Amino acid sequence: MLIGVPQETARGETRVALTPETAKKLIAQGHAIRVQSGAGVAASVTDEAYRSVGVEVVDAAAAWAAEVILKVRAPSDSELALMTPGAVLVGMLNPFDTAGLQRIAAANVTAFALEAAPRTTRAQSMDVLSSQANIAGYKAVVMAANAYQRFFPMLMTAAGTVKAAKVVVLGVGVAGLQAIATAKRLGATIEASDVRPSVKEQVESLGAKFIDVPYETAEEKEAAEGVGGYARPMPQSWLDRQKIEVAKRVAAADVVITTALIPGRAAPTLVTAEMVQAMKPGSVIVDLAAGRGPDGVGGNCPLTETDTTVQKHGVTLIGESNLPALVAADASQLYARNVLDFLKLILPKDQGLQIDLEDDIVAACLMSRDGKVTKP
Ligand code: NAD
Repeated sequence: MLIGVPQETARGETRVALTPETAKKLIAQGHAIRVQSGAGVAASVTDEAYRSVGVEVVDAAAAWAAEVILKVRAPSDSELALMTPGAVLVGMLNPFDTAGLQRIAAANVTAFALEAAPRTTRAQSMDVLSSQANIAGYKAVVMAANAYQRFFPMLMTAAGTVKAAKVVVLGVGVAGLQAIATAKRLGATIEASDVRPSVKEQVESLGAKFIDVPYETAEEKEAAEGVGGYARPMPQSWLDRQKIEVAKRVAAADVVITTALIPGRAAPTLVTAEMVQAMKPGSVIVDLAAGRGPDGVGGNCPLTETDTTVQKHGVTLIGESNLPALVAADASQLYARNVLDFLKLILPKDQGLQIDLEDDIVAACLMSRDGKVTKP
């Protein structure tokens, strides 16, 4: 098949959906590949690196005129217009953005959103949410350390002792676990909170302390189990008790990293404006839920401003909404491998395009086909 990789055009997007490594494997399977000139540059991949493995480097129109398009982000209307009707689109297409999916379906494109893959062992190698969240968790801590005007590790020097930074991580999925691991490597002391009880053991195994908020009713316990590994909204009674515990930790913290998300819903408010006001001057918050708060305002903290860093009550709030794009080379490498593994399901060797709806991963990721939204 002819595979096309256009340049990403979303603001601040530096990643690319194909690397020379994955291109080489697809070419070995008999596919032809066209990459738009410059598509990999921001991720440290030159046109020459693509050419050296047999990729044809072309202009935008030629890259879009392929049978299978590999993308990081969902295409704009003008980009969709460049696609051949009936072509296949693979990328992070926002499965909860119904209007966006309708636009894709209207362009008569067969679209697969990789974020919709189930969290199963077989889907692990194509799990874009995990590969990118892992990077976001790492980068969040690195950015916090950069903005924080003190050391992370405890230091005993001839000029006196410096205390270790206190880091609080709220939401301990893939990003939160990597944030804990990264902060630990830098020598901080860490406390973390999540709604799911299974997280406690993982937090402790990384050398951090779990902020325990016991479940007092059957309803709280059931909600905390989540669904498919994801969190569900918790009853207000539990959230109120969590808020009291979190407020104490946040007031004493030097750095707060928030990563709490609930699929298809607004991110929960975990650090209120009053909590920010009570923080020590010079503290830093990195809000990974930036832009996903109630009504699209803020993130896990309502004072967060998306894609910018602001000072509020002496606290630095970092609202970068696309942290993986700031580690573009590795983020692209892992994303491209996720894409390659997904392609094995729909482009099995020597068989052309196969859409096997009996395959749970293919069925979950399929968003549109034959002009209709097919999201399960
Ligand atoms: P996510 O990005 O959807 O959410 C981040 C975290 O926020 C989650 O841990 C969630 O429980 C937490 N959260 C939600 N509301 C909260 C609140 N009010 N207070 C505190 N925390 C709150 O999560 P994710 O990183 O995508 O991971 C979700 C789960 O999927 C994890 O258990 C992860 O280990 C699991 N997972 C499984 C596989 C697999 O089996 N193949 C792969 C990846 C992830």
